Amino acid sequence: MTAMVKFRGNAACAVPSNQVKYPMSIRKIFKYPAPVLRQPTATITSFDDGLAKLVQDMADTMYEAPGIGLAAPQIGESLKLIVVDTTKDKEEEQSFLPMVNPEIIAHEGSQIDEEGCLSVLDLTASVKRHKKVTVAYQDLQGQPHELTAENRFAVVLQHEIDHINGILFIDHLSPLKRALYKKKVKKWANSEEPTEP
Ligand SMILES: [Zn+2]
Repeated sequence: MTAMVKFRGNAACAVPSNQVKYPMSIRKIFKYPAPVLRQPTATITSFDDGLAKLVQDMADTMYEAPGIGLAAPQIGESLKLIVVDTTKDKEEEQSFLPMVNPEIIAHEGSQIDEEGCLSVLDLTASVKRHKKVTVAYQDLQGQPHELTAENRFAVVLQHEIDHINGILFIDHLSPLKRALYKKKVKKWANSEEPTEP
C-alpha cells in the first residue's frame, strides 16, 4: 500500500539496524496491468537465506517508495509473502513484519478507508474492508503465528493478502470506477505517461 503519511528519514534506516544483513537493494515495482500481479502464488516451504534476502529487498523497496506494505508479486515474485510496516510513531525507528504464507482465518465488522497501491498509479479510493482480522502466518524460521489487527492495520493486512491472491484494490471498486481507471491506464499506455520510475 502507498503511504498516507510520509516517512521521515531515508530508506537506509528503514529497518531496525540490528536486523540488516544484506546490502540495500531496491527492486522494480510492477504496475497494473502487469500480468505478474494476477498470477497464482506459491506457498513458501524453504526458510533459508534466500527468503531472508528477499524480505530485506521487499522492505528496502517498500520504504524507498514509500509504502506501508508490499507483497512479493509487486516485485515480480509469485510467492505467498508480504511485509508490513509496524512503526508506531514517526519518532521511533522504522520496523516491519515479514509474514510468510499469510491467511485471514477470522474477521469481524466492516470499515471504509481510503486506499492506494504502489502498483496502481495515480489512484486512491474508498474501499470497504473487515474492521478486524486475524491472520495466520509463518515467520522467517517457519514458526507459525497468529496476529489480530483492527482499523488501519487491518486494512493494510487485507490489502497485502489480496495481492498474493491476485486481487488489487481496484477490484473492490464499482464497475464504473474501475472502467474509468482502466481507460486512464490505456491512455497512458498510448502516450507512455506517466513514466516508470
Ligand atoms: Zn497494493
